[in-house]
Amino acid sequence: MRECIFCRIRDGRVPAQIVYRDEHCIGFQDIRPKAPVHVLFIPVKHIDTLNDLSAADSEGIGHLVVAATQYAKQVGYAEKGYRFVWNCNGDAGQTIFHIHLHLLAGRPMGWPPG
Ligand code: 5GP
Ligand code: ZN
Repeated sequence: MRECIFCRIRDGRVPAQIVYRDEHCIGFQDIRPKAPVHVLFIPVKHIDTLNDLSAADSEGIGHLVVAATQYAKQVGYAEKGYRFVWNCNGDAGQTIFHIHLHLLAGRPMGWPPG
């Protein structure tokens, strides 16, 4: 089976604008940004959907969330605000099956989401 696009970005086999990387997670610009800031944070480990998380992933995913908050602060959105989105499966609109946290910022956002 062809490896997923985000694993290929992780491994440098598909280009992406990487803005953050550590041992556990990577942040890169979304190719079709939905806000002035739209960065995707992925775990280094391939996981298809949020349904596939287990207790063993708690530390890694917690680390990813903290890294994304630190990035949001670093780029100046702590006070103005930002949104984190995780989509899981069809009704939520998941299109890439390697879990990713969307960081969206730089414009006012509606609620509830569409
Ligand atoms: P989902 O709908 O699965 O939650 O979000 C997938 C996101 O990945 C979308 O916002 C889409 O624009 C982005 N995306 C899809 N393919 C690529 C790609 O090849 N490179 C990058 N940087 N982003 C991608
Ligand atoms: Zn993957």
